[in-house]
Amino acid sequence: MGKRIMTPRELLLVEVERWCGDHACNARTRLSLTKAEARAYTGFECSRCERRNEDALTERDIPEWWGELKAAPPEGLADEEGEGGESF
Ligand SMILES: [Zn+2]
Repeated sequence: MGKRIMTPRELLLVEVERWCGDHACNARTRLSLTKAEARAYTGFECSRCERRNEDALTERDIPEWWGELKAAPPEGLADEEGEGGESF
């Protein structure tokens, strides 16, 4: 009987590290995000003080997915012009 071998052929999770915005805490929080979570990501909760930190992912955080995330915006979003003013 065919055993299914779970071979991750592509990145399923991205790990990012963030630091608490509270300078008194400044704890590091490690996040594991799926693609769906990465898409909806607007911030994180500090692992120590549980403070909510507003945040956004950057291309640096998810170079593997960045193009995909940008290419496939979540459904339901109006077809508005994004901030396409990236100057290189
Ligand atoms: Zn904190």
